[in-house]
Amino acid sequence: MEGLSGGAAGPSAGEEGEEREGCAGLWELPVERSERRPECSRCSRPQKVCLCPFLPIHPLKISTCLYIIQHPAEESRVLRTAPLLAACLPPDKCKILVGRRFSEDRYPELAAVCRNPSTFILYPGAEATNLEEVTVMSSSPPVMIIIDGTWSQAKDIFYKNSVFRFPRQVQLKTNISSQYVIRTQPTNNCLSTLECAAVALAIMEKNKNIQETILRPLQALCSFQLQHGAQIHHSKEHLLKNGLYDKPMPKNKRKLRRMELLLNNVKI
Ligand SMILES: [Zn+2]
Repeated sequence: MEGLSGGAAGPSAGEEGEEREGCAGLWELPVERSERRPECSRCSRPQKVCLCPFLPIHPLKISTCLYIIQHPAEESRVLRTAPLLAACLPPDKCKILVGRRFSEDRYPELAAVCRNPSTFILYPGAEATNLEEVTVMSSSPPVMIIIDGTWSQAKDIFYKNSVFRFPRQVQLKTNISSQYVIRTQPTNNCLSTLECAAVALAIMEKNKNIQETILRPLQALCSFQLQHGAQIHHSKEHLLKNGLYDKPMPKNKRKLRRMELLLNNVKI
């Protein structure tokens, strides 16, 4: 986790030797300071809207190790949920890897984890088993891999990296609706990475409290955003079903078919 959280600070005096002296003055320009909003080091939120009061005082005690495979575009989003998740868990139980391609040569540790029989990957599909129905063996601590990104980014990462063929593919049968209302989800059951992790961990650890604890900062974040003018983004499914969809219906037949499927509760 260390080193992934930005490191936005300038070089400290005396540390960088003589080479850096030429640009030392730049760090004192007021523009630099006012443009960069100070970030909380724990939750990675701007300090003014720090969510730490909603995080557990001590990291949750879990035996499952979580690997978040994060698409690079996700890291730069304004509302990132992965740092919130990491802040709820012990550092050795939550690893975030940013990238699109994870070859065995460059990621030998990940490849070894993927080949471990107690590793699962959360990715829905015909091949996936419902996590609720999986018996987790207790011989070695389980590992759960979750891909963080939009659906198309996750699809790209899942199918273009052969290492992700090795773990057992699982999905969530759960029918909780996404609470992450700020960002439009394609369907009501499409959960953010944080929500997926919360539900998956609660199932793996057989402890419902885990889900509530992990979702608390997300709820706080959503209500804060709504109080400050963000609009609720209902899923397309919600809008269509309630006759609130105000955009023209797509002319493209494939898109139209997709919307019909959404209306008829077909998982796409
Ligand atoms: Zn904070």
